[in-house]
Amino acid sequence: MRANPTAGKVIVEGANMAKRHTKPRGQTMQGGIIDKDMPLPVATVAIVCSSCKEPTRIGIRYDEQGRKIRICKKCGADL
Ligand SMILES: [Zn+2]
Repeated sequence: MRANPTAGKVIVEGANMAKRHTKPRGQTMQGGIIDKDMPLPVATVAIVCSSCKEPTRIGIRYDEQGRKIRICKKCGADL
């Protein structure tokens, strides 16, 4: 996967994994080492949709405030 520092940051599952050491917190949190998805810069040529899990092209839609939102052109999910 090629990275473009000027592109926005997205979470890509399974990519750029970082080991985080955590302490036990409460009864639901387990201590130890966990895998955490870290934000990483990506180029639009290699976006993998987090919804359909496939490499896809980026589309643009606008929300109620007129902000640009990137969407998957295959399934239409927000990216
Ligand atoms: Zn998709």
